[in-house]
Amino acid sequence: MSRLLFLAVVIFVVYWLLKSYRKQLSREDAAPAPAEDMVRCAQCGVHLPKRESLLAGGKYFCGEEHRRSYTGKPE
Ligand SMILES: [Zn+2]
Repeated sequence: MSRLLFLAVVIFVVYWLLKSYRKQLSREDAAPAPAEDMVRCAQCGVHLPKRESLLAGGKYFCGEEHRRSYTGKPE
C-alpha cells in the first residue's frame, strides 16, 4: 500500500515538474524575440535594436551624445 502511495507521490512530482517546466517555456515564448536587428554603438560598443539607434556616417550609435562625441573625435 505504501508502494502505491509512493508511486502517487512520484507521479505528482513528475506532473508538477512538467507543469512548471512548460510554464517556464511559455514564459520564454512570451518574451520579446531578439530576432530584431541588433547594432553596435560605434562609440561605447553597446548593442541595441537598430530602430533605437542613431545612424551617422554609416555607423550606429546608442544616443545623440555618443554620435556627437564620436564624430567630434579628431581622427
Ligand atoms: Zn554608445
